[in-house]
Amino acid sequence: MDSFDELLRQAEIAHGHLCAGQILGVRMAMLGCQRLGIEDPRGKDRKRLVTYVEIDRCATDAIGVVTGCRLGKRALKFRDWGKMAATFVDLESGCAVRICAKESSKALAKQMYPEIENKNQQQMRAYREMSDSDLFTEQWVRVTVGSNEMPGYKGERVACDICREGINYDRFVRRDGKILCLSCAFPEQCYYQSIS
Ligand SMILES: [Zn+2]
Ligand SMILES: [Zn+2]
Repeated sequence: MDSFDELLRQAEIAHGHLCAGQILGVRMAMLGCQRLGIEDPRGKDRKRLVTYVEIDRCATDAIGVVTGCRLGKRALKFRDWGKMAATFVDLESGCAVRICAKESSKALAKQMYPEIENKNQQQMRAYREMSDSDLFTEQWVRVTVGSNEMPGYKGERVACDICREGINYDRFVRRDGKILCLSCAFPEQCYYQSIS
């Protein structure tokens, strides 16, 4: 794995700016890989890792850069829970570690650098220097990655009996002998409403 500074540089480029979230995300992902014994997540170990992120924020981009896990590779899973947390799953060993940024880290940053008025600058400085245990909580967890959730899964593609659109990865329900996509099966939960 590249050094912290090199990964941070890569994260800054990918994300578009340097911010406290990039530092947090790079450190979180480096720690996750370290705990799992994954040395080269984008190289020789690239098929071992699946990462679940619990927020769509600055740090999420950095986690993607460090781990190489991307939505398009099905190795990045998004659970929209609004928490600055991620779980790193080693598919080879079955081990998984969930890491969450501590609520107290903001206050600690203020305590460390009261003279820096800009919050982002203050946190960037402090988050570089804080110990892992001041910055994060860690827990070993069990994550069952279903066979149809695996990065390399190639499932059968079916069509919805109502809208006729194709459906991948078994994202359908059977109802009254019909195959229904999720928007047809659960229109009240659909994120869009048709206006034409
Ligand atoms: Zn940012
Ligand atoms: Zn449909």
